[in-house]
Amino acid sequence: MQSEVISSNSTNESTKFRNGVDRRTFLKIVAQAAAAIGLTGSMAAKMVAAVEKGARPSVIWLHFQECTGCTESLLRTSHPGLAEVLFDLISLDYHETLMAAAGHQAEEALEAAIRKNSGKFVLVVEGAVPTKENGIYMQIANKTGVDMLKHVAASAGAIVAIGSCASWGGVPSAAPNPTGASGINEILLGKMIVTLPGCPANPYILLGTLLQYVALGKLPELDELGRPKFAYGRTIHEHCPRRAHFDAGRFAEEFGDEGHRLGYCLYKLGCKGPMTHASCSVLQFCEVVDAWPIGLGHPCFGCTEKNVAFTMPMLKPAEIVRPTPPATYAPVTAPQGYVSPIATGLGGLLVGGILGGGFLAAKKIGQQEAVATAGAGEKKSDISGASGEE
Ligand code: SF4
Repeated sequence: MQSEVISSNSTNESTKFRNGVDRRTFLKIVAQAAAAIGLTGSMAAKMVAAVEKGARPSVIWLHFQECTGCTESLLRTSHPGLAEVLFDLISLDYHETLMAAAGHQAEEALEAAIRKNSGKFVLVVEGAVPTKENGIYMQIANKTGVDMLKHVAASAGAIVAIGSCASWGGVPSAAPNPTGASGINEILLGKMIVTLPGCPANPYILLGTLLQYVALGKLPELDELGRPKFAYGRTIHEHCPRRAHFDAGRFAEEFGDEGHRLGYCLYKLGCKGPMTHASCSVLQFCEVVDAWPIGLGHPCFGCTEKNVAFTMPMLKPAEIVRPTPPATYAPVTAPQGYVSPIATGLGGLLVGGILGGGFLAAKKIGQQEAVATAGAGEKKSDISGASGEE
């Protein structure tokens, strides 16, 4: 399945990309994507130059136990779509959902793609893999999912697990997990795997990962779970548009109440944003403003975290993994003065302040009845919620 890209070694403006996207537009989209994921403009320029030289990595995309939501979210981007840009960046040589081939023809296409770029292609895996009873719960071309995964991975240059299912099991692994659905890191032991959890994973994160791989020939910096730090380095709570309401103690108490309608914090409805590392609040989905759970009024359910989504009860309050102390911020009108010897104790005070932040947050939640009632009376309609009292 080759892209329709018309590529050349030139860098002139007449170079055309997939679906007639011109070079200027292509550069703009890549630059926007790079900025969205924290990469520089010069990285985008390197990327475009690499594409023009025909440096598109071959990608083999396998499907196992999943809903195809990650592929769907990739295809549902707006025009000129991320999918078009992505398919100019890569040579998608095998993808069971998108390819026309079937049966023996598909098997031959897979083997040909492996042979042609052995040791160099990127293997993208979508879906969990059933492991119980020797993996008999899934068979493709007379092979179990486990065998197929191991066979293709043995020749891959890089391996990416897209979505929560491939990353750690996702919804097919929810209790009682009758098929033994597992993330691919539990099968490909000892292999370096980039995990992009999310239900679905945001396609910009895949684009960012491939951008770096194509432009620099290396994978992005990963955390201890194999997640790119550019996308999973902070929690939803640390960059949530409702955070001002959390800090001010304004909470929705139940779905449809006044606090919910006013866009207050969803913590008391079970929002797992404080313990979920993801970038949904920044990247959102389908390039539509507020198209992400909290933006639409639903609590985050922690889909990127193995021990949260499909494990913790929906309404159970989240742990706040990195409490911050809003009530101890320095006032804007703080008096100016010299640095006294007392300042030597400042470090200790700051540490104490941060530790105290958790206590203060808990205290606020405990006092929520009075605060929420007062907050509801403020008749706020803006979820950014800047309050004159804060
Ligand atoms: Fe946002 Fe949820 Fe944190 Fe409230 S608890 S500020 S809704 S992430």
